[in-house]
Amino acid sequence: MKILSVNAGSSSLKFTLFDMPEEKELISGVFERIGIENSFYTIKLNGEKIKKETELKDHKAAFELLVKELIDNKIVDSLDEIAGIGHRIVQGGSYFDKTVLATEDNISIVEKLSSLAPLHNPAAVVGIRAAQSVFPNATQTLVFDTAFHQTIEKDRFLYPVPYNWYTDYQVRKYGAHGTSHRYVAKKLQEELGRDDLNIISCHLGNGGSITAISCGKCVDTSMGFTPHAGIMMGTRSGDIDVSMVPYVMEKEGKSAGEIMNDLNKKSGFLGISGLSSDSRDIEDGIKEGNERCILAQKMFVNSVIKYIAQYYVLLGHVDVIAFTAGIGEKSISTRSDIIERLAPLGIEIDPEENNVRGKFKKISSKKSSVDIYVVPTNEELMIAEDTLNLIK
Ligand code: ADP
Repeated sequence: MKILSVNAGSSSLKFTLFDMPEEKELISGVFERIGIENSFYTIKLNGEKIKKETELKDHKAAFELLVKELIDNKIVDSLDEIAGIGHRIVQGGSYFDKTVLATEDNISIVEKLSSLAPLHNPAAVVGIRAAQSVFPNATQTLVFDTAFHQTIEKDRFLYPVPYNWYTDYQVRKYGAHGTSHRYVAKKLQEELGRDDLNIISCHLGNGGSITAISCGKCVDTSMGFTPHAGIMMGTRSGDIDVSMVPYVMEKEGKSAGEIMNDLNKKSGFLGISGLSSDSRDIEDGIKEGNERCILAQKMFVNSVIKYIAQYYVLLGHVDVIAFTAGIGEKSISTRSDIIERLAPLGIEIDPEENNVRGKFKKISSKKSSVDIYVVPTNEELMIAEDTLNLIK
């Protein structure tokens, strides 16, 4: 059965087509600059990457072009072979704790939640509508980044602020990257043959979050009301003292929106290094002795171990610390910098085993008190799996 996993942004559309339940990836790609000039798309097929420039009027045009590529490349004979389409949705509020069918009622809740994710939810709805019109016979599902975190208890999802902020305006922790953390937990449970694992899952990409998981359920996560909170990231500050916002607004004569932009797009690795948001550039800078890159890396590691230590205590005992996403899967030196700081907990890396990129592997030493694993994430597959389960 063929299932399409879709991630729609305001001007982009990422997709991966799977043959399920074999979990075979047939084709993937991204349409970019939809609705603006110089639009193009890239597809990955049989290990080859192809880029094509073409006009993309809207998301519907992108889906129509996708159908044409699928037929031209003999991946399907007709679009009716696509049995299901799973849509990634950033914000599901307190409404969704699992993947659901894209009924009109559910889509209208996603629209209603747009004030909590103004850049993402409206774009996702555009994607759903376009998919519905191009694939009228496919089962469409909504897969929420926040759903996995709905098991967090109230004493951990609330902020110590006036209570009516929660009751009147839904101010609380929602978290993000839930689909990735859920995949990591599931993969570890399957590989280790245990469903009672206590896991600290570190999703370290351009955005990053750390999640405490017990028996496959989320206990706490580092991102908050928005993905801004938690650890330092590529361009986001992570946790800060909010009092600096009005202070810098006055100093620089900026609006709250402009300061938020600085905190979202000009902070983190980029803000501190003054060089790049990409950890590969930071690593190069460190090799060249660049003080600001050295500082950025130290600050990143500080912020990560703060959460690992906190969740270690919260969980009581930890079976696995998992590293995933771009930095977690591929930065050998960052994993090593983080684990080195966990020595007081008896946690130790094996430098030889750690010499790995993008593969499922145990990287802790034999005497480490906690096992450490690299677990390449696959949010797209999780979306396809959820969709398959709902079709069944
Ligand atoms: P996103 O959060 O955008 O999905 P990814 O999970 O793909 O991001 O992670 C992207 C980040 O991973 C890059 O910005 C870079 O910092 C880091 N990264 C990717 N490859 C490597 C590598 N070989 N070594 C170190 N860092 C890497």
